[in-house]
Amino acid sequence: MADILRFADKHGPAKIIQVFEPSVDLKALLVIDNTAMGPALGGIRIAPDVTVEECFRLARTMTLKHAAAGLPHGGGKVVVFADPKMPKPAKERLIRALACSLRAVLDYIMAPDMGTDEECMAWIKDEVNKGVAGLPAELGGIPVDEIGATAWGVSQAVEVALPYSGFPPGFSLSKARVAVQGFGAVGKHTARFLAAQGAILVGASDSAGAVYDPQGLDVAELIRLKDAGKSMLDYPRGEKFDRDGIIDCDCDIWIPAARPDVVHEDNVHRLKARLVVEGANIPLTYGAEKYLHEQGVLVIPDFIANSGAVICSAAEYRGGADCAILEIIKEKVRSNTRLVLEEFKAKKIMPRDAAVKLAEGRLDKAMSFKRWSIY
Ligand code: NAD
Repeated sequence: MADILRFADKHGPAKIIQVFEPSVDLKALLVIDNTAMGPALGGIRIAPDVTVEECFRLARTMTLKHAAAGLPHGGGKVVVFADPKMPKPAKERLIRALACSLRAVLDYIMAPDMGTDEECMAWIKDEVNKGVAGLPAELGGIPVDEIGATAWGVSQAVEVALPYSGFPPGFSLSKARVAVQGFGAVGKHTARFLAAQGAILVGASDSAGAVYDPQGLDVAELIRLKDAGKSMLDYPRGEKFDRDGIIDCDCDIWIPAARPDVVHEDNVHRLKARLVVEGANIPLTYGAEKYLHEQGVLVIPDFIANSGAVICSAAEYRGGADCAILEIIKEKVRSNTRLVLEEFKAKKIMPRDAAVKLAEGRLDKAMSFKRWSIY
């Protein structure tokens, strides 16, 4: 008990549920962090190397993300300990088994994350008689990854953060050299949105490797390669590196859009950018963010910059349409980024500390209305 409660603080987690079904080799964990603002909403992640701690930290990120974005949801997360690239019939069995095991949990709404997609959500919806987010358009879903909802918000945060980042006067996005780690739904669309504003993509990476070209990479060509199942290493020009080579990339703006904790105390000194905007969840350890803050590098925290998808999920859950969603994301991400950066400037604190203060202030208010505090 003491072991499982080692993460507990005044905000959660409210529940930790272990899921096990040996007939389909299902081993999973649900963390419901805090439901004071409403039922927990959070993605289902399939990965062989996730940990209990990662699951809790991701659930907490969701709590803070919803609170910061003013959405009536709490934070939750499911991790399934498996290989996301398993054959499709096995994956369908696993997902359906998970759905059946969690169908009676009324304060958690299932949604996709790494290793799961809208088809998985459709299988879940077929099994459970309750709301699911991230569904295919045919079942009322908003195509978050197709429209690049998260990346759209990340690109808005970049634009708002530029004047706070210590660039020389007159510096603008049209002069900015950008590097993106991870070229999936978040990374490729962020590259596309920033390039559309004149930024030059000088570096990009995926799980196979990294490519660098100070003259600029062709974003459309990279996207075509990824869509064809190829990698950054198949790009015909530029210098190639192993995937962590992207950390050394000479650039002004660095966008992590891959995995948690990819930048930590041992490699953070290699980063050369003045501005880091977190597209992925918890891509930098707290120690790495602290080091960058001390070096005068601005880091816009994940739950402020990458809330586009949760804004979509919350809208979808309530039957909203996708036509107005990009405008809502723009407005929410820009205003929260500005609030955090004004606090950072005034109090000289880390942007993450300012962001946590903002979100926790809203969460504490919601908790004050409850008979029990966190659920
Ligand atoms: P994705 O699976 O579509 O893409 C991930 C990309 O990262 C792939 O290109 C993969 O090859 C690459 N990658 C994996 N490990 C890597 C490594 N060590 N170095 C470099 N590249 C690596 O995932 P996504 O939906 O783009 O999500 C990326 C991150 O953003 C995740 O942390 C996810 O939790 C977070 N996130 C996603 C959304 C969303 O809307 N999709 C919203 C918020 C946060």
